[in-house]
Amino acid sequence: MTAKGYGRISLLVLEGDGIGPEITAATLAVLAAAERIFGLRLAFEHAAIGWAAHRELGSTFPPGVLEKALTADGVVLGPVSHNEYPPREQGGLNPSGELRKQLDLYANIRPARSREGFPPRCGKPVDLVIVRENTEGFYADRSMHLGSGEFMPTPDVALAVRKITRAGSLRIAEAAFKLAMQRRRKVTAVHKSNVLRVSDGLYLECVRAVAVRYPDVAYEERIIDAMAALLVRDASQFDVVVTTNMYGDILSDEASEIAGSLGLAASLNAGSDHAVAQAQHGSAPDIAGKNIANPSSLIGSVAMLLAWLGERRDDPKLVQAAQAIETALDRVIADPASRTPDLGGPLGTDAFAAKVAQALQ
Ligand code: ATP
Repeated sequence: MTAKGYGRISLLVLEGDGIGPEITAATLAVLAAAERIFGLRLAFEHAAIGWAAHRELGSTFPPGVLEKALTADGVVLGPVSHNEYPPREQGGLNPSGELRKQLDLYANIRPARSREGFPPRCGKPVDLVIVRENTEGFYADRSMHLGSGEFMPTPDVALAVRKITRAGSLRIAEAAFKLAMQRRRKVTAVHKSNVLRVSDGLYLECVRAVAVRYPDVAYEERIIDAMAALLVRDASQFDVVVTTNMYGDILSDEASEIAGSLGLAASLNAGSDHAVAQAQHGSAPDIAGKNIANPSSLIGSVAMLLAWLGERRDDPKLVQAAQAIETALDRVIADPASRTPDLGGPLGTDAFAAKVAQALQ
């Protein structure tokens, strides 16, 4: 942990693909305003990833980027078009997956909160956080030490490995209960242990073991399919939702859309020593380069990163800046005339960011 007020805070900026460069530039404009107002001492370093890096260096995650991320205080990661990358052997590495694995970013924190002037789809105000395990589960690039977690024994049979560990389940449960203590003190564990008795059974056993150490937190369990329906019916009943990797990925998109829009959905990938701010959505190639993307998701993610850094460094300025960015986003989004086209508004990405920066004053 860095001592209070010492040194600059180094942020590595990775623009990514599609709308990445636009929403990253918009986010940096808001950060620049926050830096001025709150006297933050930020130092930015940029590195190419994604298609831009592949064209120049033959890899979507070139050598050196990981080292920069390891030494930075935090990383701002734009969305990446990893679904379209060539195979790994031809330089197609998923920067998001690589950072999650190599920096051991085990907790993907994904809030879904409804905002004033933008009614939630379930009719009641929503304020929940999905705490998604990020380093194992049903992800082919994360379940094996060597090789892929997906393979074909014959041309007509495909298999996939899903990895659940005691250590991974315990630490994600701990992160969820700690977060719940700062919120409304309720944790919902989501699983499918009625079918996946061994793997989700181990996961649930671990969450229950942590739950008994937090008697002040209300604890409940929901099966994933029921949870998907309950979110639509009444997402307002949930506070912190803890789950494994793929369930969390799917539920968080659902929850964000119910709370308002995926374009507003922020997220933080956090480990013990590193954190990466990353929007929940993808690179939206259909609207790239048109200056119409909504940068709220990445702006909100960076606010989460500042709050995370502020807590670790015991620096109230960072926490204040994070809260101010969230409030400014709320105020700007509340006005229909200040929204981007995805929310029915007239503003371009850059004009929206300028409004948020102005609202920080
Ligand atoms: P990828 O292949 O990178 O996942 P995608 O387009 O398949 O990209 P998303 O990027 O998640 O998936 O986009 C889903 C839809 O939401 C698209 O129609 C996209 O235009 C829209 N969208 C996503 N992010 C934003 C945003 N920040 N602002 C406005 N629209 C967005």
